[in-house]
Amino acid sequence: MSDCLVVGGGIIGLSLAYELSRRGMTVTLVEQGEWGGQASSAAAGMLAPLKEFTAPGPMLDLGMESLALYPEWAAELEELTGGDVQLSLEGLLTVALNEEEVQQLADKYRWQKEAGHAVHWLSNTLQVKEIEPLLTDQVQAAIYSPYEGHINNRMLLRALATACQLQGVKLLSGCVVSGIAVKGGKVVGIETSTGSLRAEQTVIASGAWVGMMLEMLGVSVPIRPVRGQIAAVSSVGIPLRTVIFGTTGYITPKKDGKIVIGATEDESGFQREVTMAGLASILQGTMPYVPALHSATFLEAWGGLRPATQDGKPLLGPVPGWEGLSIAGGHFRNGILLSPVTAKSMADFVEKGETERLLPFLPARFL
Ligand code: FAD
Repeated sequence: MSDCLVVGGGIIGLSLAYELSRRGMTVTLVEQGEWGGQASSAAAGMLAPLKEFTAPGPMLDLGMESLALYPEWAAELEELTGGDVQLSLEGLLTVALNEEEVQQLADKYRWQKEAGHAVHWLSNTLQVKEIEPLLTDQVQAAIYSPYEGHINNRMLLRALATACQLQGVKLLSGCVVSGIAVKGGKVVGIETSTGSLRAEQTVIASGAWVGMMLEMLGVSVPIRPVRGQIAAVSSVGIPLRTVIFGTTGYITPKKDGKIVIGATEDESGFQREVTMAGLASILQGTMPYVPALHSATFLEAWGGLRPATQDGKPLLGPVPGWEGLSIAGGHFRNGILLSPVTAKSMADFVEKGETERLLPFLPARFL
């Protein structure tokens, strides 16, 4: 019997299991496939709340809080595991190629500046190309955000799995959860392909599959899969300095010699394959920003299922009416960014029953 069972070994489940074990709790983490084998390894690893959240509010606050946690979180994981996670918070550009985009970007810059965020307005081609010389001459303006960036999410997943192991988390991969065990109205654990597991608390962190899991109790949770198709090309001969976001795609130069380009958002149920249309949209959506990409060597393309919710906010906290059961899911496009803050605020709930930080995100808003 553990203090806590975490279902789902993606970035959210691994981060939470690690945080709980750091706090001295006994934790079992259950994953049906490989650690991080779904959305979490498909991601581009962008840590970009100011780009992602288009208005002030709880999501931007959560994203900024998580970004601020990243340097210490990454350093601690690197020290514990001896592995690099390639955190790079060296800035990014959101660019405009025409007058309409310039207006939209200028509006965004205005409220971000008024709210005190560290952003700079670059008002002409020359200024933008000083930051990133490989950008197209068509670029007219940009927001430069010097403290956002990216991480190698696959290396982060490996570090988290190792850290969990070192902290004594019971790690069960290849173990499919098939039921939620209830006794006297309280959730007491789960049924799996390898037997029953019992715990004081059970947290469902199974990404796009959270809804399916809760259906086992007859509870309907609005989390659905939204496919993201994404690709990588070689950076040989294309010495990009900065992450670039445009309205039709993003371009991320990684430290491992790859440039990650993406990504589609398409509804395809639980299919995560790459389609010709998806690949075409990635290529057509990114090449206009960096003409040098036309000659890049294509390396690979892949897909993943983002866990999307109706209101764009994750579901974090207890499931009403089911003592001992909570959810940490629905992070949509930002699960990598939001993993440290999710781990810490969910651990505060599991360990101490605290829900204050979770208030805007409680599953109760749908149940
Ligand atoms: P997952 O990683 O999907 O993990 C859930 C796990 O639960 C899976 O491993 C699954 O096998 C397991 N599971 C499901 N059912 C069961 C069961 N019955 N029994 C046992 N285990 C089960 N986010 C960012 O912050 N920055 C980005 O740049 C970024 N880019 C992205 C690009 C793409 C193309 C995609 C697809 C996503 C991107 N995201 C990004 C979003 C991010 O990947 C997700 O929000 C995040 O990975 C969700 O993590 P998770 O742990 O909730 O889900």
